[in-house]
Amino acid sequence: MAAPLGLTPADLQHILDRIGAEMASAPDRGRVADYIPELARISDQHFAMAICTADGQCLTTGAADQPFSIQSISKVFTLALALGRFGDQLFARVGREPSGLAFNSVVQLESEQGIPRNPFINAGALVVTDAILQGHQPREVLGEILRFVREAAGEDDIHINKSVAASEAAHGHRNLALAHFMAAQGNLKNPPELTCGTYFHQCAIEMTTRQLALAGRFLMGAPGAARLVSPARLRRINALMLTCGHYDGSGEFAYRVGLPGKSGVGGGILAIAPGRASIAVWSPGLNAQGNSQLGTLAIERLARATGWSVFG
Ligand code: GLN
Repeated sequence: MAAPLGLTPADLQHILDRIGAEMASAPDRGRVADYIPELARISDQHFAMAICTADGQCLTTGAADQPFSIQSISKVFTLALALGRFGDQLFARVGREPSGLAFNSVVQLESEQGIPRNPFINAGALVVTDAILQGHQPREVLGEILRFVREAAGEDDIHINKSVAASEAAHGHRNLALAHFMAAQGNLKNPPELTCGTYFHQCAIEMTTRQLALAGRFLMGAPGAARLVSPARLRRINALMLTCGHYDGSGEFAYRVGLPGKSGVGGGILAIAPGRASIAVWSPGLNAQGNSQLGTLAIERLARATGWSVFG
């Protein structure tokens, strides 16, 4: 397992603390998501960052033990579960191309006959959830997702925030529209309300920034990772994170950061330096593409300071 480019834990802690201090005084913190009312209540002042390295160190700065809503970062875990169950057959129902459009866009789905571009835009994630839901009760599937995340993190204290799920359900017209359209095209196997309900709950998983970095360790190919997902599949999940993990901001994230990443509208980002580190950041203010404004900047700073990049 690669050492983190000769950086000692003290070096990394110093880099983290410097980034934390810089973010504390950042002038533009972005805008907290307000289309899910429960998320709109969160202050834009929070900031936390955590790094788990391949050699077992875990370092944090800021409010790294405060739980937040991981939202679309959950799509990485459901994708891993679905690929484990269905393998590449899953890609008969969902593509592997960047969408170049907003995460909740409706227009592309119609012109492409109900086959979403990739598993990370909402329509694609709904298909993934629909696939793992088939033949099961939502309760069972949510239990399975939670088990996966808890095992990946090595911690049990990770839960679903039911108020956030209910808040999204009460305002979930766009996702229901996407689901109904896919049902009309024969690309949804369960009733749209059931698939959306399960999806809203998976998005409402809460965990701390430290727990998210822990949960991402399997994606860097940490020792024991093959227990959860095979190495070949990890590479593919990382490829999708790099190309699609930030929606219509994916190219910009790859350019600035150079690492696979997945964002959520709760303000979290999980980024992976393969063979080196799992990185989590949380700052609730979002940019125009719905990705954490300071989270992106913080990981950009980290990548520059450490030299971590998938491009050598
Ligand atoms: N639950 C959110 C939604 O469906 C997730 C979106 C996101 O995090 N980008 O709108």
